[in-house]
Amino acid sequence: MTSNHPANEPVLSYAPGSEEREKLQMELRNQMETIIEIPCIINGEEIYTGNTVQQVLPHNHGHILANVHLAGKDEMEAACISAVNAQKNWIEIGLEERCAIFEKCADMLSGEWRMKINASTMLNQSKTCFQAEIDSACELIDFWRFNCHYARGFHDYLQPLVSPKGVENSTEIRPLEGFILAITPFNFSSIAANLPSAPAIVGCTAVWKPSRNSYYSNYLLMRLMMDAGLPKGVINFVPGSGELITDVALSNPDFAGVHFTGSTSVFQGLWQRIGEKLPIMKGYPRIVGETGGKDFIVAHPNCDERGLIVALIRGAFEFQGQKCSAASRAYIPNSVWNSISDELCAELSKIKIGDVVDFSNFMTAVIDKRAFEKITGYIERARDDPNCQIISGGNYNNETGWFIEPTIILTSNPKSETMVEEIFGPVLTIYIYDDDKFVDILELCDKSSPYALTGSIFATNEHDINTAFNALRFSAGNFYINDKPTGAAVAQQPFGGARASGTNDKAGGPLNLLRWISPRSVKRANDIPQSWTYSFMD
Ligand code: NAD
Repeated sequence: MTSNHPANEPVLSYAPGSEEREKLQMELRNQMETIIEIPCIINGEEIYTGNTVQQVLPHNHGHILANVHLAGKDEMEAACISAVNAQKNWIEIGLEERCAIFEKCADMLSGEWRMKINASTMLNQSKTCFQAEIDSACELIDFWRFNCHYARGFHDYLQPLVSPKGVENSTEIRPLEGFILAITPFNFSSIAANLPSAPAIVGCTAVWKPSRNSYYSNYLLMRLMMDAGLPKGVINFVPGSGELITDVALSNPDFAGVHFTGSTSVFQGLWQRIGEKLPIMKGYPRIVGETGGKDFIVAHPNCDERGLIVALIRGAFEFQGQKCSAASRAYIPNSVWNSISDELCAELSKIKIGDVVDFSNFMTAVIDKRAFEKITGYIERARDDPNCQIISGGNYNNETGWFIEPTIILTSNPKSETMVEEIFGPVLTIYIYDDDKFVDILELCDKSSPYALTGSIFATNEHDINTAFNALRFSAGNFYINDKPTGAAVAQQPFGGARASGTNDKAGGPLNLLRWISPRSVKRANDIPQSWTYSFMD
């Protein structure tokens, strides 16, 4: 049976002896041998400002990957103007041509660009080959292919249902008028490229401000889009200060919206600043933001214990816990804890941490010095807290790279700091509860944190699963039953959370794309009225 939608990109295994493993290792060696210069790209032109910062390997911070030329105020102003000027032609080439470009991007990334982009993500953001493969290859290919599919779909879906005799009704799917500011996070190359390109598929143009910790991989993705035929000015790449680009963009009346992924505090600040600038704006800007999480796993006494151990390890520690969806608090019943704690700690002791080029490592380094200090601060405060006990890990070393062991804290206080705040590192805090307090624990889980991004329930009995499903309705935008709370796939589990976790506009589903359109309703009269009087007047 053939389906009328794209398929998810298959994940390559990189198993020993595989062709992809050999190619990737060769690409890693190549990229480590050179230091590249990264320009701003405005209206298709490379701009080397001379005001540079270095990109280093987080797992070997003495090794330089690139010098990045930062955009100043002039470049940022030029980027906004370039995006505005590019929009007319970009709209007029139509949806099919726009999709053809992004589908070509997907094909190139699936083929000859795959190793280049994966290697750059491994080196720049310190990901294992598997973490890079599911992010910078598969998820981004899926974003591009499925977003084109969704955009085509709602062109039909949004047409008016009724056109009475003598009248032709239609809806033009216009993009927002003006430019979109895409402010992107370090932790997923796929999200970084998706934030400017999703609005572009439906006819918007964008200014893309990448994170200072992913300039290198993001720049290569910009080059890929240009090689695929993206017209000049549709996406403008401006590495530089978030504060400054926000000031510049919000001083431009053509600012049409922001597509943001990052931390909650930055997003809240952005929203406030947009509100203040409303009087000078041409329209009401769209504000779409996916932000932080304090993602949970709740286990029931009757759960699958081995499945729970695997979910805790993968959910909390893959990519060093630097996923917005990473499991960072767990509620485990006494009986289950007594049965699994030794095995969990034994498994954790097998985890290897180190350089991304050694494929036997399960974890590598956290992203930078600031993250290292923030995460280790949480560990040290927990060490000093009489309610907390570090039962596994807790050590760290920053000599060569920013390495932190996978750390488990046991707490007797369900509101202790590491049970409620986003840490964004390899730290999992566990609260043990009495077996008969399952319903109370669901309420505690719901009320303990301002975030509501992802969460899992582990239980075998359908009644208990349902109890959790209802009690945790608003506690997570992505809810998992008997699985880890990470690893959402495009077109399978559209991603996003509410409360302090964002606007829940679901990247990887049609809803996100709908935020970038502003339809025009068109009525065409074929029987043109010839009399101004009505029959009731006769
Ligand atoms: P961050 O908030 O530090 O940075 C995100 C982006 O905002 C970067 O490009 C940064 O330069 C920019 N920025 C920082 N300060 C700014 C300011 N004052 N004005 C304008 N822009 C500014 O986040 P990060 O460290 O890159 O990413 C980690 C965060 O992202 C975590 O909180 C994580 O939960 C969240 N995240 C959420 C999702 C999701 O889908 N909900 C996905 C990935 C990451």
